[in-house]
Amino acid sequence: MQILDGKKVADEFAAKLKLRVARLKKRGIVPKLVVIMIEPQKRSLIYVRMKHRRAEELGIEIEEITLKQQSQTDYAAQIHSVAARPNIHGIILQLPIPDSLDKQALIDCIPPHKDVDGLTTANRERFESGKPDFWPATPRGVLKIMRDYHINPADKTVTVIGRSDLVGYPLACLLKRKGAHVHIAHRGTPDIAALTRESDIIVSAAGSPRLVTADMVRKGAAIIDVGINEDGERIVGDVDYNMVKDKASYITPVPGGVGPTTVIMLMSNVIKAARRQSAD
Ligand code: NAD
Repeated sequence: MQILDGKKVADEFAAKLKLRVARLKKRGIVPKLVVIMIEPQKRSLIYVRMKHRRAEELGIEIEEITLKQQSQTDYAAQIHSVAARPNIHGIILQLPIPDSLDKQALIDCIPPHKDVDGLTTANRERFESGKPDFWPATPRGVLKIMRDYHINPADKTVTVIGRSDLVGYPLACLLKRKGAHVHIAHRGTPDIAALTRESDIIVSAAGSPRLVTADMVRKGAAIIDVGINEDGERIVGDVDYNMVKDKASYITPVPGGVGPTTVIMLMSNVIKAARRQSAD
């Protein structure tokens, strides 16, 4: 069994991205990301800190803005005003935000060319046609891990558990485009184990600890665990790692698997945004 070391994948890619940032800086362009937060939870603050660290390492400017407690309309106005500021290349709305707000309407206040999470309606529509301004970071991170470890999804049977707009759905689409036979499982799927047992690759992005157990995995399968869950003081994925690892050919740890690749892919989108906007 081989551990899929997402931290290593991300560090190697970071070295390349640093050169891209240096080239932009020579032209007087400093890529800049703004992270907008609304009533952030403790966990969101941890994710933002990880983004901050990686951005600083690469030479990307990062600014965090916590919006004052107001109405949907006021939040929208504040996001529009951030978007109108010059020299900001990428903007993300850190999720989750309170359920009382219309999440998509706020995300759509971000102009598509600065939407480095790829979550605006415009970018999601372009995703469907295969030409988004930005590919979403977590699915890109998963594909990067697969590529670096020579796990080719073409003609493989893959089960993706979770079908959110952020992770599961776009990932399943990208894997299909790469020629995989993809099952998409979700909360309403009656027998997920029947799907995973016939799968060469299982990707779990459900947010449910110990969802994928050893009896659901066929020997030699590659396991990619996107889930991040709190288990007391520990962070665990969706996969029962200790039991599954002995059956798997490859497995991502949590933490240290998909998480670092998500952050680095977000940074790569910010650099892309800066390069494109400076070419205008
Ligand atoms: P979400 O809540 O928006 O979507 C979860 C999806 O999983 C839904 O489609 C739901 O039907 C399905 N699901 C939930 N529980 C299930 C169960 N018991 N059985 C089958 N399907 C189930 O969540 P999300 O934003 O897509 O995130 C999913 C997980 O991935 C979370 O743990 C999140 O923290 C994590 N995440 C990790 C990264 C990373 O970089 N590693 C990035 C984004 C999200």
